[in-house]
Amino acid sequence: MKTASIQREQMEVDVLFVGAGPASLAGAIRLMQIASDRGMDLEVAVIEKGTEVGAHAVSGAVLKPEPLFELLPDALEQGCPIESRVRGDGLYWLTKKRAYRLPLVPRHLKNQGRVIISLSRLTRWLGERAEALGVNIFPGFAGTEVLFGQDGRTVVGVRTDDKGLDRERTPRANFEPGIDLKAGVTVLGEGARGSLCEQVCSRLGLKGDSGPEQFEVGIKEVIQLQEADRLGQLPANALHFMGHPLGGREPGGGFIYEMDQSRLALGFLLGLGYREAGLDVYDRFLQFKSHPFIHSLIKGGKVLEQGARTVNTGGLYTMPALTADGLILIGNTAGFHNTPALKGVHLCMQSGMLAAETIAEALASSDCSQSSLQSFEEKVGSGGIQAEMLEGRNCQQALNRKGLAGFVHLGAQYLSKGRGIIDPLPGIPDHLSLKPDPGYAFGSESSRPLEDEPELFPDQLTGVYLSRTGHREDQPCHLEIHDPEICRSTCLDRFGCPCTRFCPGGVYELDRAAESGPVIRINFANCLHCKTCEIKDPFANITWHCPEGGDGPKYKIV
Ligand code: SF4
Repeated sequence: MKTASIQREQMEVDVLFVGAGPASLAGAIRLMQIASDRGMDLEVAVIEKGTEVGAHAVSGAVLKPEPLFELLPDALEQGCPIESRVRGDGLYWLTKKRAYRLPLVPRHLKNQGRVIISLSRLTRWLGERAEALGVNIFPGFAGTEVLFGQDGRTVVGVRTDDKGLDRERTPRANFEPGIDLKAGVTVLGEGARGSLCEQVCSRLGLKGDSGPEQFEVGIKEVIQLQEADRLGQLPANALHFMGHPLGGREPGGGFIYEMDQSRLALGFLLGLGYREAGLDVYDRFLQFKSHPFIHSLIKGGKVLEQGARTVNTGGLYTMPALTADGLILIGNTAGFHNTPALKGVHLCMQSGMLAAETIAEALASSDCSQSSLQSFEEKVGSGGIQAEMLEGRNCQQALNRKGLAGFVHLGAQYLSKGRGIIDPLPGIPDHLSLKPDPGYAFGSESSRPLEDEPELFPDQLTGVYLSRTGHREDQPCHLEIHDPEICRSTCLDRFGCPCTRFCPGGVYELDRAAESGPVIRINFANCLHCKTCEIKDPFANITWHCPEGGDGPKYKIV
C-alpha cells in the first residue's frame, strides 16, 4: 500500500454510525431525540458507502411497524413511504407444475395488518428525518479500517476510503485520502457480513464460542404490472413459497408482496448452507419466476429494478459479543433477524434505538468503556428482541438440513417455541457445506428461453444493469482471490469453480482457454455488494474489500 504514510484529515464526533441502514438511522434519530430531551449537545455522524442513503438497501419487505411508530409516532403524517398493508397471507408449496396453498399459515408468517415497504425508500425517508434532527450524514464514504487507541483494543473511530487510486494502488492526480473519523462511540450497522465488523471481531475475539454464522442470499425485483388488480384477485397480498425449484433438497423459497402503483416485490431466497456445487443462483431465480403459478401473477409485467443481498440468518446462538471499549454492533451485522418470520428490519431498528439509549447514558457518565456499554446487551437480553429471537434460534440450522430431517426439526421447533429436538442445533459454516462434484459439466443452458418476455425475465447482465451498479473501472479490484492456484486446480477439480454460479452479478468467469491454464476473471464493476462470494467460497479464498465510496448499486425502489 503506497498511501500508508499520507497525512490524513481528522474529524471528531461524539457518536459515529457506520452504514445508513434502518438500524443506524433509527439509532441516530433516537439519540438526537434523547439529546434534545436532556439538553445534551451531541455531534452525531452517519457514513454510508452508497452514493445516497437507500442506494444499497435492497428488500421488498413486510415490516412489523411497532418500532417505527415508537420512534416516530407521526411517521404516517410525515409521509413515511408505506407501499401497502397486508390484507392476508398465503403460503404455497410449489411442485414443478402446480401450486398448493397450505391450509394453515405458521404463526411466524401471519402478517395481517403489517405494512409492506421498500427498504430503499424507507431508509431514504429515515435519512431525511435524521438530518432534520441534526444528524450529519455523509453518503459516498465507505469505512475501510477500524481505528484503535493506544491500548490496541479501544475502538476510537473509522478511516474512510481513499479516492483516486489506480489499479496498482498508486495515487492518481485526483487522489483524495480518506479521513480519520474519531468518535467516543463507534456503532457498526453495516448489514450482513460487514467488513469492519469482521475486522473488529477478529482483532478483539468478539465471536468467542458462538456458533458459525449462517446466511441467505436473496435476489429481489420490483415488477410493474400491466393490470392493476392482478394481486387484488387473490385472497392474500403477502405470499410465501416453498418447494420448486429447490424442492426439499436445498434451503430457500420465495415471496411476492404487493406494492403501490400496481407493482410487486418479488424475491427468491437461497440459504447459503446449500450443498449442490452446480447450483446456479440466477438460473434458479428464473426457474422460480417462470413457475406457472408465479408466472400467472406477473405475466405481462416489466422488471423495474433488481438487486441482491445476503442476510445474516443464523440467529441468537451465532451472534458475537455486541460491545467492546468504544464500540457497539447493531442491526443485521450483529445478526438481529427473525428467521422463521423472514423479517428483521424491526429488530434492526430496535437494536439501534437501544444502542442510542445506552450511548446517551455512557456519554452522560463520560464512560464509553465496554463495562459501561455492556448495558446494551442487558437491554437486548431483557427486552422483546431476545424473546422474539429465541423462537428462531435454531431455525436456519434446521432449514439447512436436507429433506425430512429438516422438516422434523422445524416441526419440533414450532411446537416447542424454538427449542426443538436439539438445542442448540449445531450448524456448519456455509463455505463448508458444498458437496464435491468432480464431474461437474460446464455450459448448461438456462432453463427458460429468456427471449420470450425479456422485460419480465432479464438475463443476468441486464439484471445488473437494472440495479444501476457501477464502479470506476481503473480503481483497485475490491475482490481479492488469495490463492489463484486453488481456483485453477483444487476448486475446479472438486467443485467446478462455484463462484461462477453463486455470484448473482455474474462477476466471476472461468477462462479455460488462457495460455497459462484455467483462470478466474473478475468483472468487479458488476459487483452488487451482496457478499455471497466471501461467505460461500468453499476454500474461503475470497475477501470482499470495500471499493470507493459511492460505487456499487443505486437502488431506488427495491
Ligand atoms: Fe456478490 Fe461477490 Fe458477486 Fe459482488 S462479486 S455480486 S459481492 S457474490
